Amino acid sequence: MTRTQTNLLAILILLAGPALWADEPNRKVSSRFQQAESRSFLGFDAAQEQVWQAPFFFIQLADPQYGMFTGNTGLEKEQVLVQQAVAHINRLQPRFVIVCGDLTNATPDHARYAAQVSQYHQDFSQIDPEIPLVCVCGNHDVGNRPTATSIDRYRDNFGDDYFSFWVGGVFNVVLNSSLLKDPAGAPDRLLAQQKWLDQQLNNPQVQHAKHVLVFLHHPLFLEQADEPDQYFNIPLERRLPLLEQFKQAQVRAIFAGHYHRNAYGRAGDLEMITTGPVGRPLGKDPSGLRIVKIEEADLQHEYYPLEDVPAQVE
Ligand SMILES: [Zn+2]
Repeated sequence: MTRTQTNLLAILILLAGPALWADEPNRKVSSRFQQAESRSFLGFDAAQEQVWQAPFFFIQLADPQYGMFTGNTGLEKEQVLVQQAVAHINRLQPRFVIVCGDLTNATPDHARYAAQVSQYHQDFSQIDPEIPLVCVCGNHDVGNRPTATSIDRYRDNFGDDYFSFWVGGVFNVVLNSSLLKDPAGAPDRLLAQQKWLDQQLNNPQVQHAKHVLVFLHHPLFLEQADEPDQYFNIPLERRLPLLEQFKQAQVRAIFAGHYHRNAYGRAGDLEMITTGPVGRPLGKDPSGLRIVKIEEADLQHEYYPLEDVPAQVE
């Protein structure tokens, strides 16, 4: 290449902008998926939402996990199920929707990851823009042993991995549970999350919350708070101190996914609610969603198969 040709190429690259740089991170994501930012959620007015107004309900989904049905070769089954869920959501008009992790089946280092993220964005963008969509990271989203790189890749596509937000007098905490499951790849990230969580739960305003709720991907436990460690729960060494902290902070309920089945347990007054998948089931519970009704002094929740979701919520 002559000097003139090289100069021309340089000018062309400058004119074309960053799109030509192969390693430029993909920033072309809808702002809908970038609302978890600065450890908060931009879809809710932080001051206004601290005040109780009236009973409301929200919808929890778990494990759409695009690619799981076919081992990453196709996405059609997940697409059909998510479109069904989105139709229910748009009809029912919940206060918000939260997806508790494993948004895709491929991890960020996998060749099929970008295509699955793109399909997720496309299908979940069909939710009525008035309904905030909150995304939570799972082990497939950041890897079984998350690293700074895998977490940052997730944040590029879906926003912060841990954050908090108020809705109608209820304080909600979202955690990166893959750091709790296996912190060895990013121990400093787990420390930072824990320090942040301490500050959140010690905030005097939180004592005035009607309820405090926690959302994460891995259940802390499935049925018994002290059950032995296994693939689907958080190791006891990190589970028990966290449960103690949540009890002290009067956390009312913890919502999780990951199990691809429903499960339920209690630790004192605290409910541990594990929700079946909107994607591929691994047990008798068919693909579905959970409706959570919030009253001033009470909380009710029920899982519905996608074929059996009520026409409206009373
Ligand atoms: Zn999972």
